[in-house]
This record gives sequence, C-alpha cells and structure tokens, in this order.
Amino acid sequence: MSFYDIYKEYNWEEIKDFIYSRRENDVIDILFKENLSVEDFATLLSPAAEKFLEDMAQKAHKITVMRFGKTIKLYAPLYLSNVCQNACTYCGFNVFHKIPRITLKKDEIEREAKAVADTGIKHILLLTGEAPNVATLEYLKEAVSICNKYFSSIGIEIYPLDINGYKELIDVGVDYLTIYQETYNRETYDKIHPKGKKKDLLWRLETPERGAIAGMRTVGIGALMGLEDFRVDEFFVGLHAKYLMKKYWKTHITVSFPRMRKAPGVDTPFVEVSDKNLVQSMLAMRIFLHDVGIVISTREPANLRDNLIPLGVTQMSAGSKTEPGGYSLKEDENAEQFHIEDNRSVDEIINVIRSKGYDPVLKDWDRAFVIA
Ligand code: SF4
Repeated sequence: MSFYDIYKEYNWEEIKDFIYSRRENDVIDILFKENLSVEDFATLLSPAAEKFLEDMAQKAHKITVMRFGKTIKLYAPLYLSNVCQNACTYCGFNVFHKIPRITLKKDEIEREAKAVADTGIKHILLLTGEAPNVATLEYLKEAVSICNKYFSSIGIEIYPLDINGYKELIDVGVDYLTIYQETYNRETYDKIHPKGKKKDLLWRLETPERGAIAGMRTVGIGALMGLEDFRVDEFFVGLHAKYLMKKYWKTHITVSFPRMRKAPGVDTPFVEVSDKNLVQSMLAMRIFLHDVGIVISTREPANLRDNLIPLGVTQMSAGSKTEPGGYSLKEDENAEQFHIEDNRSVDEIINVIRSKGYDPVLKDWDRAFVIA
C-alpha cells in the first residue's frame, strides 16, 4: 500500500464542493477540538474559516510552542545545477528557456559551501534540475562529501530517485529529502508537465515514502501554491503528511507553502494566492497536524516572514541565492529558478528571530549520531 491508495479515494471536485459549502457554524465547533478529522481540516481551509483567523492563530501558536518550543531552525539552499530535461511550464529552469546553464564543478561547490558556511549556516539544501545524466548520482555523492566538511545536516531537493539511490546518498551524509508534488490535481499536473520524467504523477507521488523507507531523517513535502485551487491542494498536502507521519513515524515530516513567483522566461498564468490565504493554510495545517514541521522560504517577503514566526513556523531559509554560483561566483540573475523576496542576510534574520523572543537554531543534528 502507498499513499496513492488513499489519494485515489478522494475526488478533487467533491473535496472542492465540500470546502466551499462550509459555513461559519461548522468552523466554530472545530476550534474547540483537540484532534481534527480530515473533514475538520477541510473546514479550516474553507472561505468560511477566514473570519476566524485570529482564533486559529492563537491555537496554532499554543500547539507549536508546546511541541517545538520557541525555536526556528535556519537553512540555506545551494544550487548545484540548473540543467533540466523537463518542461514544467511554471519554472525558470524549463528545458526550453534560453538561460545560461551552469553545473558547478568540484572547486566551485567548495567555494559556494564555504561562502554559505561563513554566514554561520549549518543546514544546507542541495538543489538540481532534473538531468540525471548531468547531475549524476556520483556527482551528487561528491557534492555531499564536499559539503560534509562545512555542514552538520545536508538536505537534497533533486530529481526523484529509487530507494537504493536515496540509500546511497544517506550513506555519504544526506539526512533530509524535500520533494514537492506541485499540484495534486491530475489534469492540471498533466498539463503543466508536458514532457520528461516529471510527467509521471505516481512516480512523484510515491517519492516521499521511498525517501522515508530508505531512512531519511526528515522528509519535506508541499504543493506549489497558485497552480490550482490552493484550498484543495493544501487538503491533499495535509492528507499526504498525515499518512507519512503515521506510517513512517521515525521520519520527521515537514510541509512547505511555496507560492508561485516570477521567474525569467516564465509567463504561465497562475491563481493569485494572497498573504491571508497563505496564513490560513499554515494555521489549518498546524491545528490538524501538531507535530509537522512548517517551512517558510525566502520566496516570501521579509515582513510576512517576520509576522509568521509565532504562528507555527519551525524552519526558515536565510540569505538565499537561487542560481548556481550565487554565493561566491559571478552572479547571473537570468540563471535563477525564481526571484526571492527576502534578501536579508543570515545575521539580520537571526536578529529578527531573537527580537521576537525565539531562538534561532543553526545546528540540531550531527552526522556523528549515525556513524556512532
Ligand atoms: S520544476 Fe524542477 S523539473 Fe521542472 S523544469 Fe524546474 S527544475 Fe526542472
């Protein structure tokens, strides 16, 4: 059995109708509940729940402090390669886009890693496009070995692998897998992925659990908000996270809420997702899943990120660059995956976190724990 068996039990249009048919009275009862059903979760994602965001914020804050304390873990992305064979219509790395294609060489990875480590960051997230013949498994293992010198935790956001592939990466030092489904709507998924391996919805849908089976310490999932109706997509993200948390209880599951951003060469129309929509999704997720990690990246503007700190966030990226070589080599903005909104330095973000009475966590893991 995989998550697909649960996924296929739910019809997108029926979930949508349910969410949009909820009324204020349906929401009020749920605010007093400790444990929510999936129907309750769907109700908190409804337009009717928008009126209760303040109550939801208080509840989400309380749950988060109880489960995680007042801590925010910091990480930074490091783009290894922007070469990609896929044609996702919403992405700046799309194979058809005429952008400078860069794959970092060993010495460049070292320089980039050192530049990030010099900011104090200890958690790195390595990213590539989907070109397994360019960013091969051997190349990734070398990159991880270099990063081991500078970071205590190494995550990957790369093309989906099989279980053995993930095991090989875990053996050299990877402990965190991030993989977004983009959208759980079958028709839209098919339309926005016109070619390449990513067209295979099932292969992607089962990737988080292949990572968990391989032994990843943390697995992060999410939908790209703006590709479809965010309320329905977030319902499926919650369902997926709940399934993974129960079945792979040794793995910490995190959820991200990335919103569509402009990127060079991308003119795909997308559904506007407001700050309020993002906040509601995050609060509903926290009230539904008390132990899920919640990640907010530098895609979001500084002001919003600061205000989200007490509402359920447990991880934030800081000082990010979204193009290969962005930290230490010559920057070329045309080679970035998307424009980031929060351009503050790691030190500035640390100061903001402290000013809100929270502890910035730079290190919460060491590879020595598993080697011993
Ligand atoms: S989203 Fe990923 S797979 Fe799709 S074009 Fe961008 S980098 Fe390639």
